[in-house]
Amino acid sequence: MSHADGCRCPSCAYSICRAMRRDLLPIFQIFDRPFDAPDHVVVRLFTNDQPTVFMWRHSTVDAARASLDGLGLYCIPRDPSDPPTHVESWL
Ligand SMILES: [Zn+2]
Repeated sequence: MSHADGCRCPSCAYSICRAMRRDLLPIFQIFDRPFDAPDHVVVRLFTNDQPTVFMWRHSTVDAARASLDGLGLYCIPRDPSDPPTHVESWL
C-alpha cells in the first residue's frame, strides 16, 4: 500500500498525530450513528480527549473495525458511562 503526501488514511493520520505532539496519545473512537452523522458509523481520531480533524464514515461497525485492523492497536471496550453512540476505542 502506498501513501502519498497528504494521505488521510487512518495509518497516516495516526502517524501525523504521533509526530505532532509526542505527549498526546492518539485514540480512535468508533461511534454508531452519532447525531452529526445519523446514517453512518464514524471513526474519529482524538488526541487525549480532543477530537482531531481526522474522521471517516462507514456503513457498518465491522467496516469501521476493518479500517483500524492492522494498525497494531488494542480495542478498548466502551464504558457504561460513555455516550450511547460510543461503540469502542482503539489505542
Ligand atoms: Zn496513508
